[in-house]
Amino acid sequence: MAETVGCDVVVIGAGIAGSSAAFHLASQGVKTVLVEREHPASGPTGKSSAVCHYFYTVPELSRLARRGIQILKDIPRSCGGPVVFHSNGVLWAAGENNADEFARAIARIRDEEGGGIAALAPVDIARMAPGFDLAGIVLAAWEDEQGYADPYDAANALTKGARDRGAVYLGNRTVTRFAIAGGRFTGVELSDGTKVAADRAVVAAGPWTKSLLRPLGIDLPLHVERHAMAVLNAPGVATTVLPFSWVDDIRSHYARPEGANTILIGTWAGGGTGIRNPDAAEKPKRVAVVGDYDAGVSTAESVWIVEQMAPRVPAVADLGIRPGYACMYDMSPDDLPIIDRVPGVEGIAFAAGSSGHGFKLGPAVGEEVARLATTGPSALIAPFSLARFA
Ligand SMILES: Cc1cc2nc3c(=O)[nH]c(=O)nc-3n(C[C@H](O)[C@H](O)[C@H](O)COP(=O)(O)OP(=O)(O)OC[C@H]3O[C@@H](n4cnc5c(N)ncnc54)[C@H](O)[C@@H]3O)c2cc1C
Repeated sequence: MAETVGCDVVVIGAGIAGSSAAFHLASQGVKTVLVEREHPASGPTGKSSAVCHYFYTVPELSRLARRGIQILKDIPRSCGGPVVFHSNGVLWAAGENNADEFARAIARIRDEEGGGIAALAPVDIARMAPGFDLAGIVLAAWEDEQGYADPYDAANALTKGARDRGAVYLGNRTVTRFAIAGGRFTGVELSDGTKVAADRAVVAAGPWTKSLLRPLGIDLPLHVERHAMAVLNAPGVATTVLPFSWVDDIRSHYARPEGANTILIGTWAGGGTGIRNPDAAEKPKRVAVVGDYDAGVSTAESVWIVEQMAPRVPAVADLGIRPGYACMYDMSPDDLPIIDRVPGVEGIAFAAGSSGHGFKLGPAVGEEVARLATTGPSALIAPFSLARFA
């Protein structure tokens, strides 16, 4: 006979946002069930480059990033988990077009939001980045205490932290249906027949969110894009070639060392930063059916990605190419997340549309969407309501 599990809040999806939502709910004594179709970080979270920075032109994104990074750095203490955060610094270069906007954002974060960021002139960048060709760079944002995280460790540690606080984790099971009675959410059904009775739901199902919520009469303005990563073989030299996490707003690529022997490189077509770059060489690659995309990366595609970075850092052209990989960005029309309640149904909050930059925001987005589901919205998520697309 099908099992029935009861709780206050069911969280759907154990990516970085859902695992954090479950952790924060359970930490507050809320009876929580976390359902995941595969395992924690099995979606885009696990493929994330997980570069983490405060720099954003939208103040609320900077604040979510700051809180998200704090949660990540605190995981060893809060969850008894591993160190998931690596502070190798983030250097983010801007050209003539965007330098003023960069300078304003850096000043705002430095003077009004707690600091941790500095503006560097080309002469300072040259000292920090020997071997880089600085052509076109006018200014850079430098965050010496930020860097990147291990996304698997992070989502798994937060899931474990939730379980240690009493949450029930149901992995390898998919939410197939919402139960609604009299306009109110009452629970979900899972692929193995399990029923979860709950007062409220937090949906953090990434690219799957749109189709999951559609039967409730909501058509979220989200689409999916494929994002590919080149992986370079850099035995013993990864942190010499690339001593920090690097974002190039002029040549539209980013990169970071992965340990001592590997460098990851991605390109982007705009979005993510709050600044769109219409001249980006990369063009969006739409995925029509969620999950139906090429998760591998051909040699030709890897070479193309490396070629976007090589004029800036010529040493990368001499490194070997390992198999790359690709995954999905769940995109909103303005590249900002959507964090809201499902209209017309009482009791369901959701966070989706992280638009390719949601890893460092995820821990805070999870905390905020959990708050939205239980007590109500905070001012921090006001810019991310669904109503902005009305
Ligand atoms: C290659 C790549 C590089 C990236 N690099 C960066 C970066 O450097 N910095 C950054 O900040 N961001 C980056 N991102 C973006 C970031 O990874 C995502 O924004 C973030 O991980 C989204 O997390 P999430 O928890 O919202 O969703 P997801 O990771 O998509 O998690 C959703 C989870 O829900 C589960 N699920 C779906 N449907 C159901 C269902 N019906 N029932 C149960 N479970 C379900 C899925 O299995 C999945 O585990 C990158 C993304 C990619 C793909």
